[in-house]
Amino acid sequence: PADPSENGSAEDSSKTLPKGVVIGKDGKPCRSCTSFAQWAAQAKSSLKAKTDSPITATQKTTTVSDVGTLPADCPPDVERLGNSTWTLLHTIAATYPEKPTGMQKDDLRGFMATFSRLYPCWVCAEDFQDYMKKDKLKVEGRKEFGNWLCEAHNEVNRKLGKKEFDCSKWEERWRTGWKD
Ligand code: FAD
Repeated sequence: PADPSENGSAEDSSKTLPKGVVIGKDGKPCRSCTSFAQWAAQAKSSLKAKTDSPITATQKTTTVSDVGTLPADCPPDVERLGNSTWTLLHTIAATYPEKPTGMQKDDLRGFMATFSRLYPCWVCAEDFQDYMKKDKLKVEGRKEFGNWLCEAHNEVNRKLGKKEFDCSKWEERWRTGWKD
């Protein structure tokens, strides 16, 4: 579905959007900050409101469970973006040297600092920047960075009510493959 705010002003949309649709810094709905289900439910509801006669008792309103899954060739929602990004970050950790040079450490510091500012989901980015202030990035070697990243990912998992990952297994998940 297209941007639910595209036929209305940013101000209008911020008043009418349901819980779960995050507003971007431009005042419009932020697609990469919002789950597809919430986004699509909102887009369908807006369309229905514009095209339908008033809803009758037998008509069903759109709910987040009605909307299916995000098609592969659509802009990413917060979940697809997140999943793809964790894949990149953990794979960077998996290929980071055990004994990095000074330049490699600088590169990692620079990359993570820039990443935390440019991440497209701004609410995620702000929380991640706070996390990086609280728990300083570790660049001394693969194990240190891999564990740091695993803990950072677990912080997000906790925030979202997801299961925590056992960080003693991060290398099996992202580098060597499972032992059994
Ligand atoms: P993901 O969390 O994407 O994990 C992918 C895979 O990584 C899992 O299947 C598992 O095998 C493995 N894994 C899980 N935990 C760990 C771990 N601790 N260490 C190593 N491997 C692990 N979404 C929001 O709604 N709000 C936010 O504020 C938010 N902040 C984010 C911040 C960052 C920096 C990133 C990269 C993503 C953020 N996300 C946020 C997205 C969120 O973390 C998930 O990516 C998204 O909900 C999809 O989850 P998923 O179930 O596909 O698994």
